[in-house]
Amino acid sequence: MLLPLLLKSVPESADDISDTSFRVDEVVLTEILVRQTSWTPAVPGKPARVDFFIGTPLRDYHTYIAGAGLQVQHGLEAGVALALLPAMRTGMDLRVDGYLSDTFLHGVKKYIDVFTQALPEFKTIDVKPLGTYLAKKVSGSSRCASFFSGGVDSFYTLLKGAEEITDIIYIHGFDVRLDDLARRRAVDEMGHAVSTELGVTYLAIESNLGKVLQDFGKWAEHAHGLAMLAVSRVLAGYVSEVRIPGTFSVAEQKPWGSWLQTDPLFSDERLHIVHDACDARRMDKVRRLASEPLALQYMRVCWGSVEGMNNCCRCEKCLRTMTSLHILGVLEGSSAFTLPLDTALVAQVCLPVKGLRIFPRENLALLRESKRDMPELERALTRQLNRPIWLARLRLKWRKRFLRWQRKLQLP
Ligand SMILES: [Zn+2]
Repeated sequence: MLLPLLLKSVPESADDISDTSFRVDEVVLTEILVRQTSWTPAVPGKPARVDFFIGTPLRDYHTYIAGAGLQVQHGLEAGVALALLPAMRTGMDLRVDGYLSDTFLHGVKKYIDVFTQALPEFKTIDVKPLGTYLAKKVSGSSRCASFFSGGVDSFYTLLKGAEEITDIIYIHGFDVRLDDLARRRAVDEMGHAVSTELGVTYLAIESNLGKVLQDFGKWAEHAHGLAMLAVSRVLAGYVSEVRIPGTFSVAEQKPWGSWLQTDPLFSDERLHIVHDACDARRMDKVRRLASEPLALQYMRVCWGSVEGMNNCCRCEKCLRTMTSLHILGVLEGSSAFTLPLDTALVAQVCLPVKGLRIFPRENLALLRESKRDMPELERALTRQLNRPIWLARLRLKWRKRFLRWQRKLQLP
C-alpha cells in the first residue's frame, strides 16, 4: 500500500525516531515512499529537470535534479539513492512507486547489507518497487563522466583517466549553496576552463538533494556518495560509465559516505559506476598534481574561499595541501593558492578527530623524505599532532563562537 501524502505532525529530527511506525491523522505509516513527480525536458536556455517526492516520518521532501546530460529513465533508480537513508535510518521499508532494473535492485539489496553491517545505527530494510525490468546497455554510448569539484581527488581521477573521460560533473548545492551565486559562477568558470583545456564537456548539475540526505545521516560519513549516485543514475544513457573520485586508498578503506565496497553496487547494464583511484594515497595524488600546471592553476580544495580566490589559504584543507606543495617546491608557482604559507597557522591547525592526523603525518613523512631543511614547518606539523583531541575540539568550539560573535557585532 502506498503512503497517503498528508501533512504531518512529526518528530523534530531523525534522532527522535525510536519506533518503526508513526501516526498521521490516525493513519499509521509504516513505509518510506519515493516517486517521481515530474520530468521536464530541456529547452533552449533551460536544462532538463526531474522531480521526486520522498515521504518520511520527519517530513515530506520535494527534491529535484536539473542540468546538462539528464535523460529520461525507465526506472526510479535515482529516487532510490535519495530515499535509502531515510528508510535505513528509520528501519522502514522503502516503497518505490516505479520500476527498478533487476541488476540495480540486486546491488541495492547488497548495499543495504554491507552498509547496515558496517554502521549499526542504520537498519536493514526491504526495497519494494512496482516491478523490475532488464536494463540494457545503450548502444553507441561510450561516454565516461567523472565527478569533478577541483579538489585533489577529482583532479587526480580526471588527469589519470584523461584518455577515457569525456565529461566532468559538478553538482551545485553540494559544496556550494544554491543561493551563493558568486561562488557558483566561480565554480562554473573553473569547470569550463578545465574542460576546455582537456577537451571534455562540463556538466553543471543543480539539486536540493542535500536536505533529505542530511536529515537522516551525516554528509561525509553516510550521505555524499548517495548524492553522487543519484545524479549518476539520471545521467545513465547519456554516459555509460561514471567515475567517483575516491578519498582513501585500498589500505585506508573504511565505511564512509562514498566507499569502494558500496558505490559500484548502484551499477547495472545501463550504467557502470566506478569508485576510482584507490590505488593511490593522498600523497601520491598530490605528487602527481605537483607536476600538472592545470591543477596548480585551478585546484580548489576549500569551500570557505573568499571573493576572488579559489582557496582561502587559511583553513585546515588549504594549509594541508599548501604544506605538501611547499615541500614539493611548487606552491610559489601555483596560482590556485594566492597567499604564502604561514607556518604559525600550520601550527594552530586543530584536528578534532583521530582520522585527520593522517595528513600531518603524511606531510612530515614527505618532508623527511625530501631531505629539505624546514625546521619551522616540521615543528608546526609536530604541534598539530601533539595537541590532544579534547583540546583541539575545545579550541575549534571557541573559534566558532568567536566568529559568530564577530559576525553579530560586525567586527572587522
Ligand atoms: Zn581554505
